[in-house]
Amino acid sequence: MSVKHSGIGMTSQRTRMRMIERLRTQGIADEIVLTAMGAIPRHIFVEEALASRAYEDVSLPINYGQTISSPWIVARMSELLRANSGLSKVLEIGTGCGYQTAVLAQIAKKVYSIERIGPLLTRTRIRLQELQIRNIHLKHADGMLGLAEVSSFDAIIIAAVMTHVPAPLLEQLEIGGRMVFPKGTQKQNLCVIERTVQGYTETVLEEVNFVPLLSGVIKK
Ligand code: SAH
Repeated sequence: MSVKHSGIGMTSQRTRMRMIERLRTQGIADEIVLTAMGAIPRHIFVEEALASRAYEDVSLPINYGQTISSPWIVARMSELLRANSGLSKVLEIGTGCGYQTAVLAQIAKKVYSIERIGPLLTRTRIRLQELQIRNIHLKHADGMLGLAEVSSFDAIIIAAVMTHVPAPLLEQLEIGGRMVFPKGTQKQNLCVIERTVQGYTETVLEEVNFVPLLSGVIKK
């Protein structure tokens, strides 16, 4: 792996392990998720000026008014998505800086990720190529439409908040699959939808804070 911010590259492994220990004390128990997060250098996903804060339990700005989700959110959503079973084809809406995408790539066979802001995705594409993660497919599009040409998915994760899940995403979730996302307006909650032959069941979990899911794409 190439480490872009060489200055803190030396200490990042130790700092990362401290982050993993903190996640454990915060209740993250899935060792597969913790191992994945221990392997991905989070500091290269933020601007150099913020790199020293990359392992703190905070969300940070990443340009274009977006934020990189906090380590705890990434761990929690990954754990909920896995539910202690292997993931094969995952769809992520809201690639952002690509950190969650890189973590997912460690715990799933294939990851498809959609981002609506073109220039943000361009940078992320380069970053993920540098990390030589090959089981990721990125697409510049409106994620509300899902990815019909590749569906169905055994897991779908949405990194931006809305009041209801767009119908195409529900349709593209395979029977037996699960979806993890934030839902709400002023008050937001993490939710899990499971699809069975009988239909969809939703579980509402803890309060969270995400940027909104928006329609359409930004080219420049
Ligand atoms: N997991 C990302 C989260 C970034 S914030 C990270 O940690 O970096 C949420 C992202 O969702 C933003 O990049 C935003 O542009 C994107 N987004 C919002 N609405 C979208 C949509 N309809 N389709 C695709 N991406 C969307």
